[in-house]
This record gives sequence, C-alpha cells and structure tokens, in this order.
Amino acid sequence: MDYYSKSVNKLIQELTRLPGLGTKTAQRLAFHIINMPKEHVESLASAMVTARREVRYCKECFTITDQELCPICSNGNRLHNQIMVVEEPKDLVAYERTGQYKGVYHVLHGVVNPQLGITPADIKMKELIKRLEGDVDEVIIATGSTTEGEATAMILSKFIKPTGIKVTRIASGVPVGGDLEYVDEITLMRAYDGRIEL
Ligand code: ZN
Repeated sequence: MDYYSKSVNKLIQELTRLPGLGTKTAQRLAFHIINMPKEHVESLASAMVTARREVRYCKECFTITDQELCPICSNGNRLHNQIMVVEEPKDLVAYERTGQYKGVYHVLHGVVNPQLGITPADIKMKELIKRLEGDVDEVIIATGSTTEGEATAMILSKFIKPTGIKVTRIASGVPVGGDLEYVDEITLMRAYDGRIEL
C-alpha cells in the first residue's frame, strides 16, 4: 500500500469502508477518481457531504427526507388513518410508484431477526405503537415474505390487535423472499387489494 502517495492511500482506505468494496476495487475506484475531471470529483464529494448532512428521518413515518415531515405525511389529501408498515424507505418508494395507495406509511428500518440479534427495540416499532394513539383505522403490514418479515408481522399484529385497530397483511402475491423493490407495480397493487385481516 505504501507504493502510492499518502493521499491516494488515504482515499483507498476511506473507500474500503463502503459495503462490498475490497482493497482491489477500492484501488481501481481511487485511480478512476484521480483521473476524473476535477469539477466532477468536487461535485461528487459535495453531493455526498450534502446528502449526509441534510437527510433525516420524517418525524412521523421515519422515511428519509430533508424536511421535518416528508411530502407524504404533510399531504392533507392522504388518508392519515391508514398506515402501511414497510421495512425500508425503498419499499415505500415501490408502493408510491403504483400511484394507487392513498394512505400513509411507517418505515421500520429493518425486521426482527433473532439470529442477528435484532429485536423489536432495534427497529421503529415503538414509534409505530405510539402513532396508534392517534386516529388510526387500519394498519397494513407490508413487510417482506421472508421468515423475518413474517415474524415481524406476527409480533406487530400481537401488539396492535388489543387496541381494536384493524390489522391487515398484504396478500402473498409478493414472491417468497422477494424484495418489494423489485416487484412490479401490478403485483404490488394486487397484494394490497388482496390483503387479509389478521
Ligand atoms: Zn413521513
């Protein structure tokens, strides 16, 4: 590693912090970067800094936004008494792409996974329970159909049912182990329309 200049070594070292980047790939990227036009590098670096600094969680649904409330939560035309629970912001985006869903969301930022030591306390579950104190008619659980997604759905329904709020689960039109992000819009809407009460 000491064959390169200090600054190149530092760049390689920083790049290896990114997921999926081994030393070889980091070296290749570092050399690509030092050969890029200066203004492109500056714009890349500043986009990274700005995104990290300005992005935050919506205080209502916990999706990623740059406002206190995301555009969906601050939209008075959405049905705020219908909450769809998803694993990640990208799942919210997948449902938004259908243009059909009129309710709001709650992003858990993960699923319960005992093997990885992820408990309900590690995801935004208590934040969801807190939201149920408001005017909520239905919670639609749209976690994935993986073992962890199903387990999380079960835990959620156990928590929510005693409140008397209707709990539904999207139909299993979504392929097992399927990532919502890659499911087409028609399948997603079918899963939503065919949801069943838990
Ligand atoms: Zn929001």
